Amino acid sequence: MSPMKCPDCGTRKFYIKDPDDQYTIREVQLDKDEVVYLDEDDETSHLQVSNDTELFCDRCAWHDKFKKLK
Ligand SMILES: [Zn+2]
Repeated sequence: MSPMKCPDCGTRKFYIKDPDDQYTIREVQLDKDEVVYLDEDDETSHLQVSNDTELFCDRCAWHDKFKKLK
């Protein structure tokens, strides 16, 4: 299994958005097959990545559900 990364630019850094507040985002990094949360903030700790979570690339315009990267 190849490491998960952005299919367009190859970065492993992404962010996720709070469905209830588009301005609240949380940065994540994909490390092999696990998700590493880059910030530990009380305001964003409830944001977790699941298969249907929309991931936004940190470097380009790519975004899609997490399961599409697997
Ligand atoms: Zn990208």
